[in-house]
Amino acid sequence: MNKELRPLGYRLLIFDGYRPWSVTKLFWDITPADKKKFVADPKEGSKHNRGCAIDLSLFEISKDREVAMPGEYDEMTERSYPDYKGGTEKQRKLRDLLKEKMEDNGFKVYKFEWWHFDFNDWKSYRIGNISFKKIK
Ligand SMILES: [Zn+2]
Repeated sequence: MNKELRPLGYRLLIFDGYRPWSVTKLFWDITPADKKKFVADPKEGSKHNRGCAIDLSLFEISKDREVAMPGEYDEMTERSYPDYKGGTEKQRKLRDLLKEKMEDNGFKVYKFEWWHFDFNDWKSYRIGNISFKKIK
């Protein structure tokens, strides 16, 4: 995907990938009820627990910095929705570029977070709870 983005002046900036189930449980427990749509229910597990979700953005090569999106990464407001109409035109264009490239490569955006993408074949992978310390 970086190969497709580079001619446009961007590369991927990855924030998060695999996450043990215990971390999903912790996030759920500390998140207030009205913000729970931004975290995965531990009863079902997160696609991050299966190693099938990725949180990422775009990085502008010439400016050596992360691009500005309509909302911040991990922000728990409507600015995080991939169909949010606010922000600048350029911000929305970059968000849509990321979505388009990820979808071309087998991922689907989460409806409440522009940065979160699920691998289309996530059902083939089971929930993991291996701590980062034990991953070699
Ligand atoms: Zn995520």
